[in-house]
Amino acid sequence: MKLEDRSLRLTPKRIEALHRLGINDTDGVLSYYPFRYDIMNVRPFEEWKEKDKVFFEGEIVKTARTWRHGRKSSTVFEAEAYDRVLKITIYNRPWASNLTMNQRIFIQGIYMGKNRVTAVSYDTKPIAEHAAVTPVYSVKEGIRQQTVRACVERVYETVQNEIRDIIPEEFIRRYRLLRKADALRRIHFPSNPSDIEKAARTLKYEEFLRFFTAVQLLKNSDADSLIKEAKHFDGNMILQAAAKLPYKLTKGQADALNDVLRDMSSPKPMYRLVQGDVGCGKTVVAALALYADYLSGFQGALLAPTEILARQHLISLRETLSDTGVRIELLCSGIPAAERKTILEDTSSGKIDILVGTHSLIQDDVTFKKLGLVAADEQQRFGVEQRRKLRAKGVQTDFLLMSATPIPRTLASALFGDMDVSTIETMPSGRRPPVTALIRENSFRSVLSDVRKLLDHGRQLYVICAAVDQNEEYHARNVYDTANALQVLFSDLKVGVLHGRMTSAEKQSVMEAFAADEIQVLVSTTVVEVGMNVVNATGMIVYDADRFGLSQLHQLRGRVQRGSEQGYCWLLTGSDDPKTLERLEVLVKTNDGFVISYEDLRLRGPGDILGTRQSGVPDFILGNVTEDTNVINTSRKDAEWIVSHRDNPDYAAVIDSVNAGLDGASGYRD
Ligand code: ADP
Ligand code: MG
Repeated sequence: MKLEDRSLRLTPKRIEALHRLGINDTDGVLSYYPFRYDIMNVRPFEEWKEKDKVFFEGEIVKTARTWRHGRKSSTVFEAEAYDRVLKITIYNRPWASNLTMNQRIFIQGIYMGKNRVTAVSYDTKPIAEHAAVTPVYSVKEGIRQQTVRACVERVYETVQNEIRDIIPEEFIRRYRLLRKADALRRIHFPSNPSDIEKAARTLKYEEFLRFFTAVQLLKNSDADSLIKEAKHFDGNMILQAAAKLPYKLTKGQADALNDVLRDMSSPKPMYRLVQGDVGCGKTVVAALALYADYLSGFQGALLAPTEILARQHLISLRETLSDTGVRIELLCSGIPAAERKTILEDTSSGKIDILVGTHSLIQDDVTFKKLGLVAADEQQRFGVEQRRKLRAKGVQTDFLLMSATPIPRTLASALFGDMDVSTIETMPSGRRPPVTALIRENSFRSVLSDVRKLLDHGRQLYVICAAVDQNEEYHARNVYDTANALQVLFSDLKVGVLHGRMTSAEKQSVMEAFAADEIQVLVSTTVVEVGMNVVNATGMIVYDADRFGLSQLHQLRGRVQRGSEQGYCWLLTGSDDPKTLERLEVLVKTNDGFVISYEDLRLRGPGDILGTRQSGVPDFILGNVTEDTNVINTSRKDAEWIVSHRDNPDYAAVIDSVNAGLDGASGYRD
């Protein structure tokens, strides 16, 4: 049901608040679970410490006086509790003056020491009627907890009789789960901690069951029996091409390449993920696979998430496959129309062997004569959807995905149920991890002298901001203001800007200028995350580091780890939230991409990492892939059962709910 529905009687202001939280319908409201709970423990006075949150019942022994200061007010009264008189102050509740002598009231507030309490709220219900547990929702600036709570209450009351169970009856009974309506009631309005536990058990199971059902459905829609033309190529030619590289493949690269070549020679379509840390050398594996594809008489496509990266790939592919006779071209929006036309023609006539570009390559009007392999870089931005679209066009290709947010093997096999996975665990020798420092101040000051030194040595610097200009979300540092400020500070140097809203010609020229050291300080959004390969840029500053995911930051700092020179990364944050700081500390402590993405999974859930959010596979809001292994294993088995018996009407609800998500998906993000 839409939020605007009359029966909900939500005010436009409330609807707007919900929209800002990314909620668009009643399902969205009900699955906006609290991220934590305040549990009221009525503790004896002896245990109260200054600044503690306290809850207690007292009796008014001195009625209230109110002072008004303009629109604000403060009200003070006294209550007896714990055999003593407490002086209570409450702000902006002038009606507290109506409290009468000897009235019993319940007070929530902060203990200020010396028998003084600043009340946050009070009411006259007896203590036994108070919910001991208060949900706390994640909100944005300007949205109050009360508002979210009120909306959830309103929605729940209105639709509670229409909430259907998604989990099939037999599993509800087998695992003694709750009805959905009951679970939602307990997660949003718990009367004690055990309500939350019980509700979470059911809702987690449902989340995982939907996830694995989606994975199974996708796998099945490919029908295991699908057959492609097996590829035949001379393995020695591949070895020769590898031998011409300026380095020797690491063991991880060689193993991954073997897996890929084996899949390609088989009549079963390949769907393989090659994962490994930033800089482990996945590109060359793809390049050699594309070469094998070419030798077998097929065309290949290499997809990149951004144009910047596509250009980078074009260069390295041409380098790797120089003097093999392979024709490699680039197609992206920056290509002039006439040239584009030729490229399209030559692709469809088969004169071009490998086409490099962004995902529009397999979406647009591009036709191939005989497409045999699609390699997609940074897999997290290309969902299963692309594969479905290609299949729908009747194209039966091999698929090679590359991901730089590697996850431990055991987890990978659980989560990527429908993919084969090769993991490159070895890094080329001689790499120096960047020195990373976490600076607890969102300003340049504390790193200035270090940065100055680096620049004086002729090195270059990246400065990363979360926003492009001032109008953009929150109060993040933005590219333009930062660039202006830095240009004043480093008047002897040239400061450039780079962000996704520039035209590709503009981007191109800035990148070339940076690569040529005509620009020394590049202020940018995360568009540099992948693809920038400027060996002389050895410093990176990230403003508002707390706004980025760990894996993303790890990718970013990979930019200053390109050569043998020591790189430096300064993560700046104004946050003093201990959890946030602890999360960022992970990057200071380790440079191991596996550990980092594991932490990301633990702290944020896999939606971002797997890129599944857009392809309709449900996200885990409550479930935790690193801790809930029991639920994962059970729900995975159950999902397999459900999909292989999908005609059973009892399973219609879960299958429909998953399909609704899959169909509504756009497939990728930009
Ligand atoms: P990623 O896995 O992050 O995509 P790339 O494929 O971009 O990494 O490789 C990073 C750099 O490492 C490139 O400059 C590449 O030429 C180099 N490289 C790749 N494999 C090796 C190797 N076995 N030994 C040394 N350098 C390598
Ligand atoms: Mg790469």
